[in-house]
Amino acid sequence: MAIGPASLLNRARNPASLIIQPMHPLLRYATDKQEESINLLEELIECESPSDSAASVARFVDLFIEKARDIAAPKVIKNKTRGPHLRLECKLPGRRKSGQILGLGHSDTVWPLGTLADMPFRREQGRLWGPGALDMKAGLVFFLTACRALRDLDIPVARKVVLLIVSDEEVGSETSRALTEAEAQKSDAVLVLEPGTGLTGKVKTARKGVGDYTIRVEGKASHAGVDFQSGASAIVELAHQIQRIASFTNLKRGITVNPGVVSGGTRTNVVAAAAQVEVDIRVAKIAQAEPLHRKFHALKPVDKRCHITVEGGLNRPPMERTPAIAALFKKARTLGRELGVDLEESSTGGGSDGNFTAALGIPTLDGLGAVGEGAHAIHESILESRIADRTALLALLLSKV
Ligand SMILES: [Zn+2]
Repeated sequence: MAIGPASLLNRARNPASLIIQPMHPLLRYATDKQEESINLLEELIECESPSDSAASVARFVDLFIEKARDIAAPKVIKNKTRGPHLRLECKLPGRRKSGQILGLGHSDTVWPLGTLADMPFRREQGRLWGPGALDMKAGLVFFLTACRALRDLDIPVARKVVLLIVSDEEVGSETSRALTEAEAQKSDAVLVLEPGTGLTGKVKTARKGVGDYTIRVEGKASHAGVDFQSGASAIVELAHQIQRIASFTNLKRGITVNPGVVSGGTRTNVVAAAAQVEVDIRVAKIAQAEPLHRKFHALKPVDKRCHITVEGGLNRPPMERTPAIAALFKKARTLGRELGVDLEESSTGGGSDGNFTAALGIPTLDGLGAVGEGAHAIHESILESRIADRTALLALLLSKV
């Protein structure tokens, strides 16, 4: 286990602390309960829950309620298009509660039903493998175990603790955004259970904002052989526009524009009447979104016979590293040292529901879930050796924030 700089300092000042310190009680607890955590994770992974199967997500929610019922009051929030969202109010020690801490997670995964047949839950090479293990079923397990630790060790918690598990994070959080924002507004801090960055599990203190655009070009069809000149190719026009929008990328400022999907035309012997491109955009700062939006809407056809329409905008605002987020990270880092962990921070181009809560000005710390690799990929897995300290860190945060 790594020894943090803080404990080194203490040793220099106070020779008595040269005595090897016993394991932190929360770390001890999480270590003792590790097999139970692994068994629960196995059950959660084996209950597949892709975003596009509302019935499967509902089954997952039922299972999770069953696992949490003794320590939390559940509320199922339904919607028309996706699986239900789940709000759990945790019953934790401590008399007078003031304020709220929001744990934020999602039940849905990117893995279609039946993935388990080729990619079953496995315990190998010091890791736990399976669809949704890292993103983010392990994070949900850790949060639940952290709450159990606080109860079993009778550690008082000053604030109300709510765990919100939404069902559509992987598909843009359309049905859950308002709910997430409403809970965040009531909260003093938000702890997001998305995986940490890399195999050291850095937490995330900044995320880019994410948006998308569709650019449609309408041209004029004609016979490519008989009447070529009377046609106006939507494809040739789109090619110009793609060059133009690609030039909006500014890596230094953290702005990326990715024309990801193109389509258009009907046959090789027809001058194309229609073509379109779907574009992903990322911005580091909210102030960058509006100027970029204006650039998209200012696109003009090179061939005046073509017509351009632009649709889209920002879906998730960026999570900017505000002083409040920096302060929350500093606190987490200090608490990590109590567990012998040297917590680091990172920024990422990927979005999460933490983007919404941070954009409201609520101190948000993201990437507090599992440590591993391969989210959304065939090698999705978490490190067994980091289950206990991540669980203990969540418990410490809940009791000390
Ligand atoms: Zn996720």
